[in-house]
Amino acid sequence: MAANPWLPLQDALNTLLAAAPSPTESVNLPLMEALNRVASQDIIAPINVPPCHNSAMDGYVMHADDAKAGNQLPIVASIFAGDTNEHVIGRGECARIMTGAPIPDACDAVVIQEDTERTDTHIVIMETAESGANIRQTGADITAGHCVIRAGTRLRPSHLTLLSSLGMATVDVYCPVTIGLMATGDELKSAGETLEKGQIYESNRIGVAALLNQCQVNLIDYGIIADRPDAIRTALHTASQQCDLVISSGGVSVGDADFIKDVLAELGKVAFWKVAIKPGKPFAFGHLNKALFCGLPGNPVSAYVTTEQLVIPLIRHMQGESVNAESHRQLLPATLSVSIKRRAGRLDFQRATYHTDEHGKLMVTPHRKQSSGVMTGIVEANCYMLIPAEAEHLQAGDNIMIQPFSIWG
Ligand code: AMP
Ligand code: MG
Repeated sequence: MAANPWLPLQDALNTLLAAAPSPTESVNLPLMEALNRVASQDIIAPINVPPCHNSAMDGYVMHADDAKAGNQLPIVASIFAGDTNEHVIGRGECARIMTGAPIPDACDAVVIQEDTERTDTHIVIMETAESGANIRQTGADITAGHCVIRAGTRLRPSHLTLLSSLGMATVDVYCPVTIGLMATGDELKSAGETLEKGQIYESNRIGVAALLNQCQVNLIDYGIIADRPDAIRTALHTASQQCDLVISSGGVSVGDADFIKDVLAELGKVAFWKVAIKPGKPFAFGHLNKALFCGLPGNPVSAYVTTEQLVIPLIRHMQGESVNAESHRQLLPATLSVSIKRRAGRLDFQRATYHTDEHGKLMVTPHRKQSSGVMTGIVEANCYMLIPAEAEHLQAGDNIMIQPFSIWG
């Protein structure tokens, strides 16, 4: 074992990402089912958006040379959005036009309604409009033939809206990865069971599953496994046959009932099992047959933080998304509101709350509960505050990076 057996987070992430196989299979899905899936091909726009010049405002359309303040013009037509007729508007004439309605050939200006005075049959223009005014030009947003979404992009609601505007009904996305989840611990009981002295309710699987569901995965739940090598061996072996990635919680540290590393070494290969982060130091990663394996710490906050910081980037990579160890976290600079004294050594993901002060400055305050077993700290916080591994003293007013919750790209 090296002098410092704790792997820095960045090195751990690089190891995970390097081990992640790239997806090979894709499927064509209706847009309604494609949310949060990863595009497997570059998507090329088949048409211009907008497909034709159209009005950006409610007003009057005309030749730009007629759009001069003081001009009086007869209204010769009314054009609504969706109108497919060919309207001919001559010099010295105008047409009433609604937002989204097509601009007639040869017209090149829209005077907004507010800049006109109207009688039954005519308008008087109060403000001159330039050529092109209030007109959305053909292809101004998207030009046919352009790549609008790169392969490896996770499809968010905005992407699906854009694809719909191109007339696309389906999209090619990578097949989801299959993930097996289990919790180890003799003390763990399920909801509905009565707790005997020394027992607790199992809570890691639901939280981890909920975090993973943000990535659209196929999840197989293997339940609660006893702290016995034979039970763990059977569960890991079965899961490794059925899954691309197997995740367990608990039993990965140095206690006398911590068998995960030994069984992993016996059935497969341990790549590392200590990461220099807090919470979450004991985190095992390795190979189990063809599957990858992540052994989360049992403490609920540790399991949650390591899922977010290590497992989700791994899954995103396995799903074909373009991620790297540096970019997967979206950090913001903030100002620390209190002083902190701590022991150096691990990158600390303190649970914290950010807000803007009366000058608009982004401030951050650590939650008072930082124990790795205490979920209320994370529930009441809105961000992680990242204390660098080497920092011992931080002063109120220091700059510090934060990672707002639920922003993972
Ligand atoms: P371990 O990593 O197995 O040593 O567990 C560390 C702590 O986390 C112990 O207090 C366990 O009781 C607790 N713990 C382990 N697994 C879970 C779980 N699935 N749900 C809630 N608490 C757990
Ligand atoms: Mg345990």
